[in-house]
Amino acid sequence: MKLSEIGEFGFINRFSEKFSSLNRNEECGIGDDCAIMPLDDQHDQIVTTDLLIEDIHFLRSEITPFDLGYKALAVNLSDIAAMGGKPTASFLSIALPGDTDVEYMDQVMEGYHNLSEKYQVPLLGGDTTKSPDKIVINVCVTGRVKKGTAKLRSAATNDDFICVTGPLGDSGAGLKILLEKINPDSSSRKLISWHNRPEPAINEGLWLGNKTGVNAMMDISDGIASDLLHILSKSGKGATVYVESIPLSTALKETADHNGWNALELALTGGEDYRLLLTISSRSFKKLEKEYNKEFQIPISCVGRITEKNPGQIIWMKENQPYSLDRGGFNHFRE
Ligand code: ADP
Ligand code: MG
Repeated sequence: MKLSEIGEFGFINRFSEKFSSLNRNEECGIGDDCAIMPLDDQHDQIVTTDLLIEDIHFLRSEITPFDLGYKALAVNLSDIAAMGGKPTASFLSIALPGDTDVEYMDQVMEGYHNLSEKYQVPLLGGDTTKSPDKIVINVCVTGRVKKGTAKLRSAATNDDFICVTGPLGDSGAGLKILLEKINPDSSSRKLISWHNRPEPAINEGLWLGNKTGVNAMMDISDGIASDLLHILSKSGKGATVYVESIPLSTALKETADHNGWNALELALTGGEDYRLLLTISSRSFKKLEKEYNKEFQIPISCVGRITEKNPGQIIWMKENQPYSLDRGGFNHFRE
């Protein structure tokens, strides 16, 4: 059997259960944005790690070294935000071809430092080795939450409002512009910039993490069409999503119009937006939405509801009619 037949999650499922019997009490491992381990009487420690490989996750010709360093940390901080946590430290392992310019790597570390400074996350270690011909960057980030309060993918309940913390599809559209070598205008430059230098929703995640009305939460790294399925399968629920409520940026709408692209499909299936996807109990939604929108510049958007029926499935609706989606979100190894 080839990996392409089962995809990345099929592979992870083959071994994750065998290892879970080694988990000690209160530890929560494979299957969420971060692992959770008890830290002290008041806190849990959360840990995440993510790998960036040249020509799979980035093209050296299409991202500045500064942005590459920034993004390597940003995608990990995003998983901390997804649990409602505060980042506490990072570890950085890099494999580099022998002919890499030192000045190039200085810039990578400038970008990494810039984001570390913004959220006051110290770099506490890592590893550096030689690689045959591609750059490989692995980052591990630790964080902290108040004991028992980490926001899990498994916590969605019936009738919850499904929400996102910002426009979707910008990163996927930015990547498309780079891959199709389209001359960028001011709108598409914004999309490329979100693709190359996404901002982790640390402050939003911390704020939402403190609210009891927030049930499930995760970050959108593979597109909502794929990521929402994780919440549904872990929570044993279904969902109805109203696609006309999916927030789209002006830059995405303009660029899609200009190039004849379907902005909505990009928003539903494009990866690497790093906005938060969360479910809010129906009792708390109105008040929470109001408070959130007072606190943050970009409003929270309700895009659908959690349902008891159709477990593990998303029913897509557009203006009260069923809507069918051409393809799901991103999955390594799958075409
Ligand atoms: P995310 O996109 O939030 O980083 P993924 O969807 O990539 O999460 O991974 C899903 C879960 O599988 C996570 O809990 C992650 O830690 C775990 N996981 C992925 N690959 C491995 C692996 N090789 N070994 C152990 N756990 C893994
Ligand atoms: Mg994640």
